[in-house]
Amino acid sequence: MLQVSNRIDKLSPSETLAMSQKSAELKAQGVDVINLSVGEPDFYTPAHIKEAAMKAITENYSFYSPVNGYSDLRQAIVEKLKRDNSLDYAVEQIVVSNGAKQSVCNALLAIINPGDEVIVPAPYWVSYVEMVKLAEGKNIIIQAGIEQDFKITPQQLKAAITARTKAIILCSPSNPTGSVYSRKELQGLAEVLAGHPEILILSDEIYEHINYTGTHESIAQFDALASRTIVINGVSKAYAMTGWRIGFIAAPQWIAKACNKLQGQYTSGPSSISQKAAVAAFAGDQSCVAEMRQAFLRRRNLVASLCKDIPGLKVNMPQGAFYLFPQCSAYIGTTAPDGRAIADSSDLAMYLLETAHVATVGGAAFGAPDCLRLSYATSDESLVEAIKRIRQALLALK
Ligand code: PMP
Ligand code: GLU
Repeated sequence: MLQVSNRIDKLSPSETLAMSQKSAELKAQGVDVINLSVGEPDFYTPAHIKEAAMKAITENYSFYSPVNGYSDLRQAIVEKLKRDNSLDYAVEQIVVSNGAKQSVCNALLAIINPGDEVIVPAPYWVSYVEMVKLAEGKNIIIQAGIEQDFKITPQQLKAAITARTKAIILCSPSNPTGSVYSRKELQGLAEVLAGHPEILILSDEIYEHINYTGTHESIAQFDALASRTIVINGVSKAYAMTGWRIGFIAAPQWIAKACNKLQGQYTSGPSSISQKAAVAAFAGDQSCVAEMRQAFLRRRNLVASLCKDIPGLKVNMPQGAFYLFPQCSAYIGTTAPDGRAIADSSDLAMYLLETAHVATVGGAAFGAPDCLRLSYATSDESLVEAIKRIRQALLALK
């Protein structure tokens, strides 16, 4: 019989993209859906970045770029890492890919052998666990609930490490919770990891600039870990460039080399035009970043306060990213007016989409089945209307 490989068979589809797709389908049928599912800024890419791309087209940047990215882009990334994160890298340690998503996947494929354990703190971004599966690694999940602000403790980390641990994936500011690890909290984790020189650290910092605490801290800043941390970042979130598909790793040279080799066989370098736009993003005027962060902060305050008013929702106060991750256990095990059972948060997300016409994502895909993810990267007006609809729909559950 003709069928797909076991590898693909075992892979779950991305739930964030699936909910967004469902919401787009309903919209196409004329339903007035408010989409709080997919996480992407609603802003347009800043003008100076678009101009750099147009210039690149005019100047015929239409050929293959080096597999790991143009050297001026990698140089701009080196300077960005120094300016924003006080991190020292050489251009050879940077590999530019088709979005941070590919950067994470490249890094995992470059370091994981079958059966290697990868520690993934939950709630986690949907794709980590699937990528670990693709690399034939084993996910070791550490649960961090709302009572600990969705952040793992050094004790939990210590308990999860075994002789097979190969890597840990950290994400701060976090998708889906918006939690941000402080320097002190990272130091606690770094101290545990310092005693395990065989463990690699993947630090996903894609939400670096959407941080309301005033400073972004990278675990790569700790000396004991610098030589075995892979920093992942990109332009999607900070510069409203999700469709341009540019992400990067800054890594020990042997890992950068491995990713370069991997990428050379299966994607080549990312879009030449997008790379030139990314140079303008990293090296150009940064005021757009602060402006967007201000808007996200205003919306964070708005959705958090509206959701806190909904009986039964437990709401965390996210310090970064653009997600709210309320715990909704009070509504699990209820019945909707149309008779449908709400057995878990995926049922709840589907009920909200079909009856309230608000697209969210159930927490199960993020390893937190009693929570719901709302992306607040949309207009204040849509947010107010969406939360009003969610409130009404939740209060109708019995
Ligand atoms: N990491 C996290 C935590 C994300 O939320 C995203 C957004 N999808 C990515 C990585 C990948 O971003 P991109 O591929 O658009 O650079
Ligand atoms: N990071 C976004 C999200 O979590 C984009 C979707 C995806 O890449 O999965 O919604």
